[in-house]
Amino acid sequence: MTATATQDIPFFPPDLFDDDRDTLLRVLYETGTDPSQKFILGARTAELERALAERTGTDTVACSSGTSALTLVLTALGIGPGDEVVVPAFGCAPLASTVIARGARPVFVDVHPTALTMDPAAAEAALTERTRALMPAHVFSTMADMPAFRALADRHGLRLVEDSALAQGGTLAGRPAGTWGDAGVYSFVQVKTFGMPGEGGAVLTSDPSLASAVRMLRNHGQDGVHRFLHHRIGHNSRFDEVMAAFQLHRLGGLDQRLERRARISAYYSARFADLADAGITAPPVGGDGRCHYVYTLLAERRDALRAHLAAHGVATHVYYPRTLPAQPAFAPHAAPGGPWPRAASAARRTISLPLYPHLSDARVEHIADAVCAFARSPQEGNP
Ligand SMILES: *Cc1c(COP(=O)(O)O)cnc(C)c1O
Repeated sequence: MTATATQDIPFFPPDLFDDDRDTLLRVLYETGTDPSQKFILGARTAELERALAERTGTDTVACSSGTSALTLVLTALGIGPGDEVVVPAFGCAPLASTVIARGARPVFVDVHPTALTMDPAAAEAALTERTRALMPAHVFSTMADMPAFRALADRHGLRLVEDSALAQGGTLAGRPAGTWGDAGVYSFVQVKTFGMPGEGGAVLTSDPSLASAVRMLRNHGQDGVHRFLHHRIGHNSRFDEVMAAFQLHRLGGLDQRLERRARISAYYSARFADLADAGITAPPVGGDGRCHYVYTLLAERRDALRAHLAAHGVATHVYYPRTLPAQPAFAPHAAPGGPWPRAASAARRTISLPLYPHLSDARVEHIADAVCAFARSPQEGNP
């Protein structure tokens, strides 16, 4: 074991943007001293939108966050009171809150036992005459079964909102994450695969009328030509020029960073392939339908594994220790449904390991060794 490997390994690295610090200072200076004095929705944002659109072949509208991107899409689709939107019972808060904020009802459905993404069969069973949209989400490192959701939406005349906030760079059957739905979204919050030191996100869509509605809604319902003419009740969800310039620079290294994430993830999966007997399940292997955002295990003795890793200097994170319908904020708004046994089981067992591009090989190995040692040790690992 090397000296560096025994140092504490943080889950959220404190030095995500260290290599680009000079660029950040430069673009801040350039934007700040630019005679245009345009700090939001200027030429830099438009250029970033074009560059991102080129990568996926869909129109891309930059906005203030991934959450806001979902809100803009739901608003543009006219989702409102009396409508139901089918969402996974396990996942992040915006899946429920953005629907409720529109005055609509989230219909929670159970997830696949290991992929942890919304189960298409459970979604179909939850449809009612009020259902307007399906909103599956990609989770951790696995894309939802988008071909099944696309077919389900088409069969029942529903809109498909793809929460691809964490899946930028992933592909399923050759098709990029975010392009399977009527609209998809990105989040650029710092820890995401194309994160930045600030808040931001984007809407992806190939539907020109949806794109134009989202563009209006992100800036108070204006059309970008006539100032103070409000066509729609909109939001303030604009994008920052300094961040746009920074992201244009960072886009150049994105594929390399995604590749490194995929390599670390593949190494973990190879090391953890036989730990099922010890009650530890690794995510699916392979590249199709994967998006290497967070590496998450399911562990029967999750808290003991967490303590063991902490004792070996490895910080971990538990995403979503409660299901969405078990949240006090969302339970009163949920349409009747449940139980959600697989979502509840996931909430009890998930544990996420450090995964970021500048994690050294020695540290990756140390983390894998520590997990395997726990699994092999009879007193610690056996359920
Ligand atoms: C991060 C995330 C969001 C929210 O994005 P923000 O930019 O933090 O608002 C929504 N959905 C999923 C699945 C996410 O991972």
